[in-house]
Amino acid sequence: MGRLFAEVQPQAQPFGWPRRNLFIQPLTETTLRKGLERYACVRMMLGLDAINLEQGAEGVSVTVRDAAGQETTIKADYVVGADGGRSTIRQLIGVELRGETYADRWLVVDLKDDRLYAPYSAVYCDVKRPSMSIDLPYGHRRFEFRLAADETDEEMQSPENVERLLDKFYPEGTPRPTLLRSRVYLHHTRVADRFKVGRVFLAGDAAHLQPPFFGQGMNSGLRDVTNLGWKLAGVVKGQLKPAVLDSYDVERRDHALTMVNVAKMFGVLYSPRSRLTEALRDIFFRLIQGLPSVRDYILQMKFKPLPRYTEGIVVPRDGMEKDGPVGRMLPQPFVETAEGRRVRLDDAIGNWFAIIGVNRDPQAALSPAVRDRWLAMGGVFVRINRSRAHPDAKQVQEGTIVLDDVAGAFRDWSLRLPDAQCILLRPDRYVAAICTEQALDATADELVRLVA
Ligand SMILES: Cc1cc2nc3c(=O)[nH]c(=O)nc-3n(C[C@H](O)[C@H](O)[C@H](O)COP(=O)(O)OP(=O)(O)OC[C@H]3O[C@@H](n4cnc5c(N)ncnc54)[C@H](O)[C@@H]3O)c2cc1C
Repeated sequence: MGRLFAEVQPQAQPFGWPRRNLFIQPLTETTLRKGLERYACVRMMLGLDAINLEQGAEGVSVTVRDAAGQETTIKADYVVGADGGRSTIRQLIGVELRGETYADRWLVVDLKDDRLYAPYSAVYCDVKRPSMSIDLPYGHRRFEFRLAADETDEEMQSPENVERLLDKFYPEGTPRPTLLRSRVYLHHTRVADRFKVGRVFLAGDAAHLQPPFFGQGMNSGLRDVTNLGWKLAGVVKGQLKPAVLDSYDVERRDHALTMVNVAKMFGVLYSPRSRLTEALRDIFFRLIQGLPSVRDYILQMKFKPLPRYTEGIVVPRDGMEKDGPVGRMLPQPFVETAEGRRVRLDDAIGNWFAIIGVNRDPQAALSPAVRDRWLAMGGVFVRINRSRAHPDAKQVQEGTIVLDDVAGAFRDWSLRLPDAQCILLRPDRYVAAICTEQALDATADELVRLVA
């Protein structure tokens, strides 16, 4: 069926996990929801509609209505509007979702009990009927088809029509899957003009909408909450100052916009408007196949823009150059604990601020005043030793976590960045600062003043 003109198959796992993951979103959401049961402080209230919101200097009041029409007012210090693309909260705080909605309609078909052997996500970039076939776990498969202007939603969503569209994908003799649902969607490329107004934040589809071509809608929402979660937790617990919350908009909005634009660009690639643009695209991709670096760029998904914070919770001294590590996520290698357990870095250092000393104990380089303020903020100290170092390397001040660089990641780090002897890490594992041992006291002091 067609000819392959480009392929994506990333192998590297710089952050400790595969770069592409296929899953069933409702199952993931069920798991996340169940995970809330671990926290006695969380009260889940379902089936309520937020209908009004008022905020002042002291807090926010949200009015909710239940199915019986009963209204209740909930008071909170902060509110996160994660209520989807039609967000009521966004409207109530007067924020606009700027961008475009396309006239193209796409039919999305979800199937179960699928026995077709096509273990990949394929995009058929055909002028007449661009379509996608996505292999999902648990025997599920998703198809997407662009509809022509004269095709109606009702006609195209019908089970008979879906069967007809599937004919071309299922060779004779392959059992047909069961239809779960078929729905027609419009695509939007829209981003809210602000992600924070006073004590109210927008996250997920409430803050940005993009076509599903790049598979980044939910991912962008997860990036929002990863950025916002620790800041809100720190402020509510009194460990961080409220000004930290302003960095949410500064850090997240630009990247959300970039992802929306990349998804839009993929849409153009996937849905050529004429045979001429289709032919030009194919020639372009055939030509670049001969250029190993460009081929690698596509194959390894290096085109995916990674977030980089140049403003917000970063100490912009060293490491701010174009390919510098400050403001970027720290790679996550495997390390070995003092007890000999091989774990991912995140599992070894906890989930809050950390200062990592590469082959040195960062605690030893701090003045008592800065050290105490770092500890008061809940920060930890970590010494990562070159693998199988001399036993002396395990001598550290009380409280410093000692790890062995079994994967050699920090050896490579220090060869590339010899002056980055200390890494100041945020709870979301973005690098807030790097410095030499001599500059650590001043750098840590600056970071503590920025956030606490
Ligand atoms: C066809 C398709 C394919 C996609 N594929 C991908 C993909 O491959 N990868 C990816 O990352 N993303 C993908 N997405 C996008 C992804 O599904 C969304 O980005 C994600 O679900 C958004 O999550 P959310 O929690 O922000 O909003 P939603 O999932 O819309 O959840 C909002 C919630 O708020 C509730 N709510 C709304 N209004 C109110 C109110 N007034 N009061 C109280 N509650 C309210 C709703 O009931 C709902 O529970 C796809 C989307 C579509 C349509």
